[in-house]
Formats: sequence, C-alpha cells, structure tokens
Amino acid sequence: MAVSPPADTGRRAVLEVPSVPMDRPYVLGVDLDGVCGDYTAAFRSVVATELGVEESSLPLDRSWDFSEWGLSADEFERLHRLAVSEHRMLRWMPVIAGAAESLWRLSDAGVWIRVITHRLYVNWGHATAIADTVEWLDRARIPYRDICFMGDKPEVGADLYIDDAPHNVTALHESGNRVILFDAPYNQAVTGLRAQDWAECEQMVLRDAATAGFELQTSLPGMERGSGRLED
Ligand SMILES: [Mg+2]
Repeated sequence: MAVSPPADTGRRAVLEVPSVPMDRPYVLGVDLDGVCGDYTAAFRSVVATELGVEESSLPLDRSWDFSEWGLSADEFERLHRLAVSEHRMLRWMPVIAGAAESLWRLSDAGVWIRVITHRLYVNWGHATAIADTVEWLDRARIPYRDICFMGDKPEVGADLYIDDAPHNVTALHESGNRVILFDAPYNQAVTGLRAQDWAECEQMVLRDAATAGFELQTSLPGMERGSGRLED
C-alpha cells in the first residue's frame, strides 16, 4: 500500500535551521591605543616633559584633537613623533585596567584575538613602532593570535571590533561591521554599543559570540588561569 507523503506545512525552512555550532573561531578585533594601552596618560607625561609644564595642566578629559592641551596639529605631530621615537612611549605605555585578564579569559574560551593597531598612520618610525608594540604586548601579557598594523583601513574580517577612535568606529559601522565603543572622553558623541571598562567588554563579547552561534568554553569564576600563567 502506498504511503502518502506528509502534507507540506510550509514550515520546513523553520524546522531545518541548523543547531550545529560554527566551525571556525570567533574573531575579536582589538585596538590598542585607548583600549588596551592608556595613550592619554603616556602622552601626557611626554608632553609635560617636552613643554616643561606640570602634568596637571594637561587634562585627561580631552578631545580627540588635544585642543584642551593647546596643541596645534603640527605640534601634536611633533610631540607624537618624539614620544614614539625618543621617549619610546609604545614600550612603556600603562596597560588599561583589566585588559590582559579579560583577553586571557576570552582567549581561553576560544575567542581568536586579533590585535589591530593604527600606529602606522604616520609615515616615519615604523620599525620602532612595530618592535616596541610587540615587546609591550608581551610585557603587558596581552594574548593574541595575530596582529594587524594598519594605516586608515579599519576592516580586517573580525566578527566584532573594540575601538575607541570616533573615526574608526564610524568607518566600521558604515561598512556594516559591529563594534564595541570603548568609552573615552573624546568619543561621547558616537552612538552605539558602548563599554565603560573591560569587564563590560568581556560580557558583551561572550553574549555576541553566543548569539552568533559560537560555542565558547567559559571558565568558572576564580578558576581561570588568566594572565598570571606566565609566572607559573
Ligand atoms: Mg585606539
């Protein structure tokens, strides 16, 4: 006896949505200056030395163009160059609180950390900038699988980006990318997903990866090995 096929309910497309996890790593694009490294604090110390003024006269609450410090574009360029080439600022810049620990936990969970830095936007000092950046990443104990030294093209195929620069965040949004804006005084006018610190960033990344169908292995609180593993 022939068996009739089941009636087509028209719901097949819904029922056949795959539940298998993604078969590639979730890639997180992480900016350095203003996200992992405290550029403002480091640059302030260099500028105070070079100009012979108190650091307190250079407010940390500053605009992107450092107008509160009274720097013209040319003066900024001159001081930034001295900071990188003479003061070797990229080698000793303070690490932003929680960055290394959060990135270790995310890396342990299976997130592919792709460091993206725009430090080559000037056409001098590339060897120093690259060497000092890599040395700094080791000393700051920031884990990464690969690193992109960029000019001004922000898109390098990450699932999610973390950046603080208004123009980078806007460019990433305009090219259809998703970005966590790392909170800073100079990016208050930018709208979108905003993290106040690395603890918030970490939670946003985990939620985003889970929503996109990536299976991550998060560690139990207090059980993670974190950035201290290099001392073990
Ligand atoms: Mg930045």
